[in-house]
Amino acid sequence: MNSYRALLKKSDPDIFSALEGEERRQRVGIELIPSENYTYPEVLCALGSVFTNKYSEGYPGKRYYGGQEFTDKIENIARERAKEVFRCEHANVQPLSGSPMNQAVYLGLLEPGDTILAMDLSHGGHLTHGAPVSFMGKLFNFIRYKTDPVDGNIDFDELRKTALKHKPKMILCGYTSYPRDLDYASFKRIADEVGAITMTDASHYGGLVAADVMLNPFDFGFDIVTTTSHKSLRGPRGGIILCKKEFAPKIDKAVFPGLQGGPHMNTIAGIAIALKKAAELDFHKYGLQILNNAKTLATELTESGVSLVTGGTDNHMMVIDTEKSFGINGKVAEELLDSVSITTNKQIIPDDPNPPLKPSGIRIGTPAATTRGMKEKDMVQLAGWMIKTLKNPDKLELARHTKHEIESFCSKFPVPGI
Ligand SMILES: *Cc1c(COP(=O)(O)O)cnc(C)c1O
Repeated sequence: MNSYRALLKKSDPDIFSALEGEERRQRVGIELIPSENYTYPEVLCALGSVFTNKYSEGYPGKRYYGGQEFTDKIENIARERAKEVFRCEHANVQPLSGSPMNQAVYLGLLEPGDTILAMDLSHGGHLTHGAPVSFMGKLFNFIRYKTDPVDGNIDFDELRKTALKHKPKMILCGYTSYPRDLDYASFKRIADEVGAITMTDASHYGGLVAADVMLNPFDFGFDIVTTTSHKSLRGPRGGIILCKKEFAPKIDKAVFPGLQGGPHMNTIAGIAIALKKAAELDFHKYGLQILNNAKTLATELTESGVSLVTGGTDNHMMVIDTEKSFGINGKVAEELLDSVSITTNKQIIPDDPNPPLKPSGIRIGTPAATTRGMKEKDMVQLAGWMIKTLKNPDKLELARHTKHEIESFCSKFPVPGI
């Protein structure tokens, strides 16, 4: 790897200096975007390997190009590890990322115009769950369920009524900005009543399911689980579709040749590496620490009067209502925290009256900080820095001082691979 770096430095100093800049950025600040993480050095090695040279259209044993001895080997290993880690019958590790992963499921199991019952976007659903701006929203008929405005729980009575009325072909749960675990048994019961396929998009918390610290939808009889490989799972950027055997032929055909061409074999090697780690006891401990860090951060914030959507968290993330807590919108909050080297993202809250680029909140999460070895006591300190910064938007000197404190704090926590 080091010889590769020396070569790059010499042949393309512009790209090399950007690489060094990004490494520095990732090292000096606290990464709180809940969908981000630091992958393993071994995964970086696989990503930067000669597997990127290879075309492997098709599946192991049934390829359209020769020379597949080693690509077949890694894809088979990745599939077997995925089945074991998630306790399921079939795995497809080829989706190029989370969005094509979900597209492939819809393409394989539904017809254009079919109805999907999914979470309202402002309540936590993802763009690929039928946002009007995505082609999936144009091709399929998405209808919505919401969370209770008081306790933030999913209203299953309402969900059942909607399902009975619209008879969806698929009921989709999973989220991108909802801080709770899911009642899969209730989803499954309602889906069975109306004959719907059950799908969970576990993109955010796939690693926490793999670590066995959050519920596994397959234990409740779910049909399909999708997850990105780069969020809590700590692998390279990619997607994994897990399903019951009966859906395997349709899912595989939808991924290739339905939606994609050649799979990215360097990524698949990285996914295999991350899944091996995910099966180890250390990963279970890592998952627990992510949850404990999130709980501590949530408690510290709420005890200081900060308003969290649903009042807290059961997973790795929380959504702060910055309008209610500090009288500032999420864009201003994101920029303030950026100025002290804490990276977050602005976030719409349920039924947000504000527009998406100036929403009422921010979203934060603990996977990346936990990867660096931060623990509960560090979360206490972090909460203090966040509150001080968000309460004093005009005190530039204070922000400069806080940034300095945070950067020297971060130097105690090495980033894997840098
Ligand atoms: C991140 C995410 C995706 C999309 O992943 P990309 O790799 O960005 O395409 C899909 N669904 C959910 C719930 C996500 O959080």
